[in-house]
Amino acid sequence: MIEVTDVTRVYQMGLVEVQALRGVRCRIESGEFVGIMGPSGSGKSTLLHILGLLDEPTTGSVTIDGIHVEALSEEEKSDFRLNKLGYVFQDYALVPELSVQENVVLPAMARGISPDEYLKESEKILNQVGLGHRIHHRQFELSGGEQQRVAIARALINRPRILFADEPCANLDSNTSRTILNLFRELNEKFGQTIIMVTHEDWHEEYMCRVLNMKDGMIEDEKACKMTKNNSE
Ligand code: ATP
Ligand code: MG
Repeated sequence: MIEVTDVTRVYQMGLVEVQALRGVRCRIESGEFVGIMGPSGSGKSTLLHILGLLDEPTTGSVTIDGIHVEALSEEEKSDFRLNKLGYVFQDYALVPELSVQENVVLPAMARGISPDEYLKESEKILNQVGLGHRIHHRQFELSGGEQQRVAIARALINRPRILFADEPCANLDSNTSRTILNLFRELNEKFGQTIIMVTHEDWHEEYMCRVLNMKDGMIEDEKACKMTKNNSE
């Protein structure tokens, strides 16, 4: 379970302060598939960065499975990210010099998984996201939607207990979006993966248990959706 208590995040831009989060409180159960929605600039990516241990709150606290993450050292955070979390960045963050497959296997290499295993797994996941025919291409040879799917495959390679995805379908047509959302739903239903996904699309709600609506750096309200939480844990 993820518990967020009164989290604020202030960015200091020279003399100007930007208050990106103004006291976020929420609780996300293990096995939930939760959406985060809200207008541009409302703080969705900032919140996701903090939950994904890529940034820290200015004030407030976050616990994941009972662990106070602010108390972890940088090394412990990095281990935690590698072993438990997957993250799809809003801007993909691919390494342009590497091929599709090399990008995808990076987190598995960092965990010390054997090449036999991670090459096989990466091929499987790349097929699932519809990129089986692109594994040796590099970023500049791919469309925006293909790059986005490489970022999704990379986030899944270590089978993370918690997947954070920042607008993972933003550059995908609705058919490809459905392929990705069905994959997420399958991972959620079969393996109980917790999924926290930022989106602007109302129709994505049909894949989710719950949506948190953000406005001006706060969760303004939430809405229960059709899917029920995976109770496999
Ligand atoms: P979008 O839908 O456009 O992706 P968002 O809801 O993800 O928007 P954030 O990226 O979290 O919004 O930004 C929230 C606020 O914090 C905005 O006012 C933004 O300009 C500001 N902000 C975000 N990142 C930084 C940063 N690194 N430095 C300074 N200000 C930032
Ligand atoms: Mg964003």
